[in-house]
Amino acid sequence: RARILQVSSKVNCTWYPASSFSSVSSVKLFIDGKFVESKSDRWIDIHNPATNEVIGRVPQATKAEMDAAIASCKRAFPAWAETSVLSRQQVLLRYQQLIKDNLKEIARLITLEQGKTLADAEGDVFRGLQVVEHACSVTSLMLGETMPSITKDMDLYSYRLPLGVCAGIAPFNFPAMIPLWMFPMAMVCGNTFLMKPSERVPGATMLLAKLLQDSGAPDGTLNIIHGQHDAVNFICDHPDIKAISFVGSNQAGEYIFERGSRHGKRVQANMGAKNHGVVMPDANKENTLNQLVGAAFGAAGQRCMALSTAILVGEAKKWLPELVERAKKLRVNAGDQPGADLGPLITPQAKERVCNLIDSGTKEGASILLDGRKIKVKGYENGNFVGPTIISDVKPNMTCYKEEIFGPVLVVLETETLDEAIKIVNGNPYGNGTAIFTTNGAAARKYSHLVDVGQVGVNVPIPVPLPMFSFTGSRSSFRGDTNFYGKQVPMS
Ligand code: NAD
Repeated sequence: RARILQVSSKVNCTWYPASSFSSVSSVKLFIDGKFVESKSDRWIDIHNPATNEVIGRVPQATKAEMDAAIASCKRAFPAWAETSVLSRQQVLLRYQQLIKDNLKEIARLITLEQGKTLADAEGDVFRGLQVVEHACSVTSLMLGETMPSITKDMDLYSYRLPLGVCAGIAPFNFPAMIPLWMFPMAMVCGNTFLMKPSERVPGATMLLAKLLQDSGAPDGTLNIIHGQHDAVNFICDHPDIKAISFVGSNQAGEYIFERGSRHGKRVQANMGAKNHGVVMPDANKENTLNQLVGAAFGAAGQRCMALSTAILVGEAKKWLPELVERAKKLRVNAGDQPGADLGPLITPQAKERVCNLIDSGTKEGASILLDGRKIKVKGYENGNFVGPTIISDVKPNMTCYKEEIFGPVLVVLETETLDEAIKIVNGNPYGNGTAIFTTNGAAARKYSHLVDVGQVGVNVPIPVPLPMFSFTGSRSSFRGDTNFYGKQVPMS
């Protein structure tokens, strides 16, 4: 099939003007290769979390618009599935270059809508870009298997085939990386894709869609709808959708897993976390404290792989005052301000929830060693800021330990032995990521073998796998059979 290719190395983003907001912009739907204004009468405001000013609005797509998006995915599927794997690979090869060329603009949108620092936002794009680069190795990933002479005069072949129309539902905390976990892998395998970004941070996904179109993806291979529950239910129920990728909270993920599975879909759901950093007294103190501070408070703790819980083993508990001193030095500011180490939380409700969980620590007998609840950021007095907070003397039965806080809050427990620490980690329902800090090889091996957690770092605080390996997660952090990216190529 012939197609005229327009490759722009720089895209002038029309969703948000570069500097001032004279009027509120409406985020478009992306249907059948066109960015279209929704006819919906239900819209959601998008806020800058550093100021709480309204910067845009996103539609809750109408039923007719969602139907049109699915019809477009369905129409595009047969030709896209038959497009040679080399041609699909070429689209992805061009795409990775366009993402690189536009990385700073995507990051700017992320900081504007999500609040994280520009450096973190660039990291967000970069980690997604790595998945796109990995998708370019589709020619190896989609190889099947053969066995000659399986019986007399008979050979056996297995093929990896696209499923059809797939869908993605994304969270707010990684506006570029997580959508890029979803549609590039599915599409390079020959599937078409319906994406529903987080209604709080749609801008990066819209720009990524434009870049994909400019890379040569045919009309209809990617469609984007916006909305909340209605859009999610539509995806779970629609008979033409064969598989769903979800990343977000347990509340939404368990619901989507159950409802989508009930309709016969393949569902992968990456959900909440409570990641523990176990600090052994033989660890390199300097590195460990720096890494703990970065992993607990970076991105305001709004990372599913944040190290939100420290277990100090034996003499390591003496390092607590120094940990507090380091956390105090972090600069809290709007994400686009020079020198900011962490930005605001996503909404005033998120701030209130985090503050309530800190309160619960005090009420249940823990000690607040560093309290970020009353922080004021000059020039951004209306922002959703919480400063780094450290809660010590925490016990596993306390609310601040049991719940995912998703803010710049480190809860600290103490044990005498590594065995006790392992028992605590395995007793927690979540199993997304964890790290041990030690110079003892035997302790590192024991820990990495005995913890029931998907991703384990040894002196690596945030062990997110590179895309040639899958992002895993175990127990309450994951539902489904195939993980995101890696050799599992989820949707073929
Ligand atoms: P969220 O669950 O509120 O939203 C995720 C998506 O689900 C959004 O698109 C939203 O529109 C939709 N949604 C929200 N509530 C829903 C409901 N009740 N029914 C149906 N759909 C619903 O999550 P969030 O606040 O955007 O993201 C933060 C969460 O995501 C944290 O729990 C974090 O740990 C998790 N997360 C997990 C991973 C991972 O890989 N395990 C990665 C990033 C984030």
